[in-house]
Amino acid sequence: MAAWAQGPVQTASVASSLSAPGAARIGAARLGDHGDKTRFVLELTRDAPFAILPDANGVVVEMEAALDAVLPPPKGLVRAVGVRAGAKAGRLRLVLTTNGPVRVLLAEVIPPRDGMPPRFIMDLAAGTAGPGAVLTPASVTTLNPPVPKEKPKPPLPMIVIDPGHGGQDPGAIAVGGGYEKDLTLAMAKEVRRQLLATGRYRVALTRDKDMFIPLRDRPAIARAKGADLFISLHADSITSKQIRGLSIYTLSDKASDKEAEMLAQRENQSDAIVGMDLSGHRADVANILIGLSQRDTMNQSRRFAATLLKSLDPNIAVLPGPLRSAGFAVLTAPDVPAVLVEMGYLSHSQDAKLLSSDTHRKRMASSLLRAVDGYFAGNASSPRS
Ligand SMILES: [Zn+2]
Repeated sequence: MAAWAQGPVQTASVASSLSAPGAARIGAARLGDHGDKTRFVLELTRDAPFAILPDANGVVVEMEAALDAVLPPPKGLVRAVGVRAGAKAGRLRLVLTTNGPVRVLLAEVIPPRDGMPPRFIMDLAAGTAGPGAVLTPASVTTLNPPVPKEKPKPPLPMIVIDPGHGGQDPGAIAVGGGYEKDLTLAMAKEVRRQLLATGRYRVALTRDKDMFIPLRDRPAIARAKGADLFISLHADSITSKQIRGLSIYTLSDKASDKEAEMLAQRENQSDAIVGMDLSGHRADVANILIGLSQRDTMNQSRRFAATLLKSLDPNIAVLPGPLRSAGFAVLTAPDVPAVLVEMGYLSHSQDAKLLSSDTHRKRMASSLLRAVDGYFAGNASSPRS
């Protein structure tokens, strides 16, 4: 490290704003002359990592702490105590200028006892005599090297929930009234609530109010949020009033069956509903965007779909052959595993009633939570290759 500045050492109290929240604070500082040694004491609010660094004119104490105390006047071997500017954020450098060469006999933080706060104590003696006692970088910086900062934890997985439709596009209309766009939004908010309550995930919604979002913007939102998983929520409608149950879709360039293809066409019509001219656009969705979609992403999407099916509450009715695939525009982010859940049929009176009920909404959301848990637990034990 560089020899230290020629300028005068600042001796006034410095209110340090350097420390991170929760870092130790120094409430008092004093020097004691004990004849053969000079003792430097700092009263701390909690234990703090420190290092003793050699210095041309004395000793430097570097500590992860903020200074609230007035620094003491000279005493014993110490001619001045000051703060050195330029320490890293969160670290304080106290410079003890000494009358001559000194060696560090002791430097430690004593835990709180007998009502006393934790204290940092350093004893200095005059001279450089005695092998190993000389103040050299090797002997002093290893006394108590600063504890390396904990590696920042990787951020929590980001789940983006996409409530289907919105604004001028109501989606399917339920028997007995009610719009798909409102059911999907209410469901998305409940899913968000349950996911956030675990403290294990970050959650974003593509919309959290009744507004129109073009289909292609939805995967773009997921990417912009750094999504690790994208779940689009819908409810279908069909002329046959008997058909009911949930189904889960992943992206494919080939629809798994005619029904799936027609469903994808219905869902992909959202933009056309509000007058955006997307004629001819449907055809490239599958070709161009699926081309970009990495095989791995599609595999992950299918794994989540399968996990969700296994995680469903037994009270949730499921369509026969519930895992399907088709060219949904909303599932086309190339690097975000994504599924579209058709939670039921608004054309079926029972499904329509359930999807607007609180109990069923909670049930559906907790099924999704179990699936998300299962999916990420699987990720942890078998990392993607
Ligand atoms: Zn829909």
